[in-house]
Amino acid sequence: MNQPLSRSAIFLEEMGVGAHWSLRNRPAATAAADFAGPADAPPVDAEAEQSAFTRAVMQAVMEDPVLEQPVRAQPVRAQPVRAQPVNEQSVHEQQAPAAVRAPVPEAPSASAARVAPVAAPSAPRSDMAVDDSTAWFDEAPAPARAAPVTDEAIAAMDWAQLRTAVATCTRCELCTTRRNAVNGRGPTEAAWIALAAGPSRLDEKDKQPVAGEAGQLLDNMLKAIALKPDADVYVTNLVKCRPATEDGADRPPTIDELTACRPYLHRELQLTGASMAMTFGQHAAKGLMMGPAARGKVMRYGAAELPVVATYHPDDLLRRPEDKAKAWGDLCLAKAARD
Ligand code: SF4
Repeated sequence: MNQPLSRSAIFLEEMGVGAHWSLRNRPAATAAADFAGPADAPPVDAEAEQSAFTRAVMQAVMEDPVLEQPVRAQPVRAQPVRAQPVNEQSVHEQQAPAAVRAPVPEAPSASAARVAPVAAPSAPRSDMAVDDSTAWFDEAPAPARAAPVTDEAIAAMDWAQLRTAVATCTRCELCTTRRNAVNGRGPTEAAWIALAAGPSRLDEKDKQPVAGEAGQLLDNMLKAIALKPDADVYVTNLVKCRPATEDGADRPPTIDELTACRPYLHRELQLTGASMAMTFGQHAAKGLMMGPAARGKVMRYGAAELPVVATYHPDDLLRRPEDKAKAWGDLCLAKAARD
């Protein structure tokens, strides 16, 4: 009684379209068959009729003008937004939306389009590499060194010119390490000249030859042979700038330094008119004589045959007081040579 349904019938059943429905645009042949009456109608092939019916339904569905209408988007109702209390900081940091808009499909906003992409930090250029070393200091050009004053110019200087020339002298390398050049001290006219080798650290600091406690002892030694230090004795160094080792210790002057500075000493001898010289310390004696020198005798210096007596440096006597007796003998020898 229940015959199996054809595939078309099953499809129609699934679509909710029963075989007993009649379409509005039913094909004419099929519609005529409905009005023809069943008595004399020729037998109809049920399967063929079902297939024709199915094609008609499918065509009607495909041509249904209702389905061809564009799907109109449903307007989205804006949801009311409740204002949120804001503090002063948030007012400056963000802007409240001026109006609530319907959701918009994903599309880049104009402001987003204007924002340039942030470039990733590039690697530092090789010539901009950080250099923590201080070697570049060495590449700085050294300040220009003034031309050294000549021997002839020094020989023609007065006291003021001589002191200025010493203070700014560039005749030897000691000018590059000195803190202060040290001019002589004492009367500008003196019968005696007291000579040390070179300024000590203290001399350089005080700008005085044989400064400090050694200077006080020197004055006492001169007074011991009836000399007035402020009136009779001009005190100076063979070199006017402090010779120092690389680690900052005092050292004796070199031959080159002695030679470069010698015109200043010659000018001091001329300006003071000294007729007697005493050297203090072995380096002063050897430095003045530019060779061997000894205590206990009167030596002669230069073309003028200036009498010279050597003795201990006051610093030596402060370290070895037992040598003061020998120094006393040297002072007496010098006093006798001058008189
Ligand atoms: Fe000039 Fe004498 Fe000083 Fe050398 S030691 S720079 S020659 S003043």
